[in-house]
Amino acid sequence: MIYLDANATTPMHPEVLEAMMPYLTDCFHNPSSPTLSGRRVRKAIDRAREQVAALIGAAPEQITFTGCGTEANNLALRSMARQAGLGRIVTSAIEHPAILKPCHALQEKGYDLTVCEVDERGYLDLEQYRAALSSGTPGLGTIMWANNETGAIQAIEEIVLLTRAAGWLFHTDAIQAVGKLPLDVKGIPVDFLSISAHKFHGPKGIGALYSRSGEMIEALILGGGQERGARGGTEHVAGIIGMGKAAEMAGIALSEGEHLKGAARRDEFLSCLKNEIEGLRLHSSKGPGLWNVVNFSVEGCFSAALRILLDDAGLVCSAGSACMTGSRKGSHVLEAMGIEKEEAAGALRLSLSLLTTKAELERALDLIKTAVTEVRVEG
Ligand code: PLP
Repeated sequence: MIYLDANATTPMHPEVLEAMMPYLTDCFHNPSSPTLSGRRVRKAIDRAREQVAALIGAAPEQITFTGCGTEANNLALRSMARQAGLGRIVTSAIEHPAILKPCHALQEKGYDLTVCEVDERGYLDLEQYRAALSSGTPGLGTIMWANNETGAIQAIEEIVLLTRAAGWLFHTDAIQAVGKLPLDVKGIPVDFLSISAHKFHGPKGIGALYSRSGEMIEALILGGGQERGARGGTEHVAGIIGMGKAAEMAGIALSEGEHLKGAARRDEFLSCLKNEIEGLRLHSSKGPGLWNVVNFSVEGCFSAALRILLDDAGLVCSAGSACMTGSRKGSHVLEAMGIEKEEAAGALRLSLSLLTTKAELERALDLIKTAVTEVRVEG
């Protein structure tokens, strides 16, 4: 199988599994237990918190473990919304449902929500964002670092400056950026930032929320006071250990420039794709973007048909985002970029990981060419 769906999820690295195993077997003790065994597990969690913090240039006390990236987003939005005097929320049309849905839920509770547009390349309309910040009472801004479907990287530094100058709080869903790009919250002072382990070869079902103040979190889950009261419930110990190990490995890979090698492989693949497939329209790579994404439509081909053929041939990729699979709706991201419905319905997203090889990409190219020919003949 050739796996080109890393933005949906990544395979867990064998060393991550190895790091987790003791905590699924012998080291099963409750980290809140004052016994020697419990304290050992607590120490391992502390270490994982340091590893996750180090990946984004944070301090361990600024990291709260959550049940997934979606929970980190919800926790950030709820925490910010509860701050006294904040009645407004500004976000963008291309956010993941894990932002758009909680934003709409807050709107139903009386918050004033503005959803800013993006341009045809998928970048936030900064003028609209600035105008939204300047009207009315202060509030909170939430803009994703990098988009899961197109890979577009937003001008986060500028967006943070605008938001802070207006006296607003700022959160970024950095779930697709963390582990793929060198990223440091010391240089870009966001208030909150969401992370998900399974996007960088960690386990599923574990995420984290960075909070600059380390204190402004208002728990969604009340219970035994774990995570300094920010999230009740006995910790998912093995998941946390796995996330820590994956974060450490991602940090090493980034410091060794592995992502730049990945980018070179992607660029070569992309130029072959453009040369060898007629009627290809690219939706990704139109400006600053994640090195691992290729999103395109092929004239006269529906992505659902292409994806099924590719799947049968052993190439796993997405028609749009993984979350849209099974939904009859088109991509809200491509729609926001002004791409015609028919063209958007033909979009395929290939997303590489650091484990993707040149040979796999060469084979993928052949499989895509064959599938396009077949769909065209049948269509
Ligand atoms: N935000 C973005 C941008 C994502 O790509 C995803 C997952 O696809 C999520 C949030 C949700 O993360 P999780 O699957 O950990 O809940």
